[in-house]
Amino acid sequence: PGTLHVVATPIGNLGDLSARALETLKTVHAICAEDTRHTRQLLAHFGLERPLLALHQHNEDAQAAQLVERLRAGESLALVSDAGTPLVSDPGFRLVRAAREAGIRVSPVPGACAAIGALSVAGIPSDRFVFEGFLPAKASARRERLTRLAAETRTLIFYESAHRIEESLADLASVFGASRRAVVARELTKLFETVLDDTLDGLHARVMADPNQRKGEFVLIVEGAGEDADAAVVEGKRLYAKLTEYLK
Ligand code: SAM
Repeated sequence: PGTLHVVATPIGNLGDLSARALETLKTVHAICAEDTRHTRQLLAHFGLERPLLALHQHNEDAQAAQLVERLRAGESLALVSDAGTPLVSDPGFRLVRAAREAGIRVSPVPGACAAIGALSVAGIPSDRFVFEGFLPAKASARRERLTRLAAETRTLIFYESAHRIEESLADLASVFGASRRAVVARELTKLFETVLDDTLDGLHARVMADPNQRKGEFVLIVEGAGEDADAAVVEGKRLYAKLTEYLK
């Protein structure tokens, strides 16, 4: 059988496509892409032309079975998304699972990932972190999600779009507390790359004050709750201690 190569592509700066990614894209039978027009442009920039197959959220289940057949028959395929690492807030999970279940070799060509790029420059503890992807679009669901995350002690990573950056920062400040430290990493590797480092309140104010800070693509890195900072957690621990004492 062939191999499924999972290939990271740039998140802005085309110089971030690795030599091995280029070599892999050049030699596979076909490339599965989230948006074939987008990937065709990327390939054209590097003087490549390969057969492209659309694999997106709406056809992934149906496509996966057919792609696994092609892999079984000996074709090698690459999987890419529009930007960064496939499967990270992008399609591909179902195809990778189906390929693995069929015993096909799945091999990564690692590279750009906005979450890791942002974490690497945030100056926020990075040994333990949780990736939360996009917050829910609806205000009530978003606040509920944040409420459940408020006592998380690991660093939190979120993706955000220009439409919701302001609302999300406002909700983060109100649910996590205004003074929690965070970083807004915008347009990484691109012309207007900006990394703002402040309290949640301070970040919200800065993004409100400057419309340019609301443009583009964003990663939010939020420091985890202090071990004892959250009153609810402290209260929970106290009750737990009392309960275990009582049950002895
Ligand atoms: N698979 C991609 C990765 O590895 O990072 C993420 C895809 S997700 C659909 C797109 C989101 O990633 C954007 O809304 C933004 O939150 C983040 N993102 C992508 N490129 C970025 C960049 N250059 N700077 C900041 N954030 C970026």
